[in-house]
Amino acid sequence: MIDARLLANGQTLSTKVCIVGAGAAGIAMAIEFIGTGIEVLLIEAGALSAETETQSLYAGAVVDAGLHSPPDRYRQRRFGGSTTIWGGRCVPFDAIDFEARTYMAESGWPFGLDTLEPYYARASALCEIGRYSFDATDSLGATARPMLRGFASEHFSSERLERFSCPTDFGKRYHALIANAPNINVLLNANLTDLQLNPSGTSVTRASTRTLTGKTLTIVADHFVLATGGLEVARLLLSNDAVHRNGIGNAHDVVGRYYQCHIAGTVGTLKLADADCVSHGYEMSEEGVYCRRRLSLNPHTQRALGVGNFVARLHHPRITDPAHRTGSLSLLFLAKAFIPYEYGKRLHGEERSTLRNWLRHIANLLSDPIGSCAFLLHWLRHHTLATRKFPSIIVRSKANHYSLDFHAEQEPNPHSRVTLDDTRDALGMRRLRIDWRYTRKDVETVSTAIALLAEEFKRSGIGHFEYDPQGLEFEMTRYGAYGGHHIGTARMGVDPKTSVVDANCRVHGVDNLFIASSATFPTSSQANPTLTIVALSLRLAEHLKQLCSRSQSHSDASPIPINDPGYDLESVSRMKV
Ligand SMILES: Cc1cc2nc3c(=O)[nH]c(=O)nc-3n(C[C@H](O)[C@H](O)[C@H](O)COP(=O)(O)OP(=O)(O)OC[C@H]3O[C@@H](n4cnc5c(N)ncnc54)[C@H](O)[C@@H]3O)c2cc1C
Repeated sequence: MIDARLLANGQTLSTKVCIVGAGAAGIAMAIEFIGTGIEVLLIEAGALSAETETQSLYAGAVVDAGLHSPPDRYRQRRFGGSTTIWGGRCVPFDAIDFEARTYMAESGWPFGLDTLEPYYARASALCEIGRYSFDATDSLGATARPMLRGFASEHFSSERLERFSCPTDFGKRYHALIANAPNINVLLNANLTDLQLNPSGTSVTRASTRTLTGKTLTIVADHFVLATGGLEVARLLLSNDAVHRNGIGNAHDVVGRYYQCHIAGTVGTLKLADADCVSHGYEMSEEGVYCRRRLSLNPHTQRALGVGNFVARLHHPRITDPAHRTGSLSLLFLAKAFIPYEYGKRLHGEERSTLRNWLRHIANLLSDPIGSCAFLLHWLRHHTLATRKFPSIIVRSKANHYSLDFHAEQEPNPHSRVTLDDTRDALGMRRLRIDWRYTRKDVETVSTAIALLAEEFKRSGIGHFEYDPQGLEFEMTRYGAYGGHHIGTARMGVDPKTSVVDANCRVHGVDNLFIASSATFPTSSQANPTLTIVALSLRLAEHLKQLCSRSQSHSDASPIPINDPGYDLESVSRMKV
């Protein structure tokens, strides 16, 4: 691992494969090359820990601050990338997410779930979520309690799980593995700024990186991979406009468009008839991984109703409103100044921050001292001090009332986009400008699914769900786009007119430039993106190994292992960092 600031200015480094960005995607790819003998250079803009000046290179403009957070929030420019602060919720995409659906504009991947499945299994190991199994009975055993006893529906399933990573900080976890690999070099504090193409624009000839101390280094490689996150991929492609006037891969003005996050929110009150019918918390799989059930809208119902993918979880009442009369929730409200922005967003900016409400929160705390202390101790022991952290607060409602926390697919929309702003960062690069938008289809997906779920609760006789259908759109967008999920800005497809990369994640028309990122997802699913980012990155690494093997076999070099990962997953999971 080399600090670029210590190298001589103007030096040229050459390598076989250059991976730009050491987050989930870049680190997963680098690990995949260990033991192959292929020289890899992993370039990382940040240091091993967070540095303010580096992080501010991520700052940019937002068209509507109510709809999207500033671009230097919800991502981290440092070794490990945004996995240094992620929540660790891991879910694979569903088979329906890959389909071209007539009712979902611009949908359809160039391959199906079966293509990604072998990589999901390996991605699960890297994310430390145990087996690649998301079925409740398979993971938790046939005797595990149902989520809602008495609830049966042909439209919703509560048998699908989400699994939780430690959450694994890829930077810390795989630092030693990468540092000790003889064929992987890492360049820290090196910001990729320029990609130079040959005069016809069909190949990257060299790349330039710059440090904040003013040094420039040149990288020469056979293959370049941008693994810089879903927003920064678009920024780099658009900024490099010397040969292609609209930027690289952007002959048809697709780069930066179709920007998707997820539509998420918390709504209504589910009043359950039987206090004992609910089991909505975390359960441990046999490998000791936290798992949680969710209510997922079945694929046949999505097709029949013409709506996107959707899941919901049983949730506690809105924390800011002291009417919940729960000490532990009021404790969180009162401690909001100490909770990082990304996790405390829902505690801020509410109309309820009046003195009267603060006093009501204090009263909640005082009326439930034992419950509040028990929560605090549990959190300290099982979250703050634990290596595998209890993922989030779960409250059992005394009144037997729950809200619904939903997470839904967003329709790809060419008008939802990121472009370059006129302001520049400390390295002279144009900053990003984000114009995230949602569509009527997004509102329809959520409102249709919630209405159907309310009917299904009633029909099954377990209770009734009260909510305000008129207020749903407000709730969907109350906190704006779901933070941290940056999808679709360099979408994958077969037609260069409507996509940026092909099925191998290679930029159309540029033979040695690849992208490993959620930027390539054509559609967003209901699933959080990281497990799929890692799976796609492992697939891309395998493809590059094959390309390197072909070029090496021409020069009669020793063969490169292709299908075997270059590391042993068992020993990776035992390894201490
Ligand atoms: C608060 C929060 C919670 C989250 N929770 C979840 C969750 O529960 N489940 C889930 O699936 N996802 C979650 N995410 C999203 C998850 O963190 C990302 O999906 C994942 O980290 C993306 O991986 P990546 O490698 O594509 O990008 P990143 O992890 O962002 O890594 C990109 C890397 O590229 C480097 N880089 C950028 N520009 C340059 C440049 N010009 N030159 C060199 N290097 C560069 C950056 O420094 C960084 O290290 C969360 C995100 C946040 C912020």
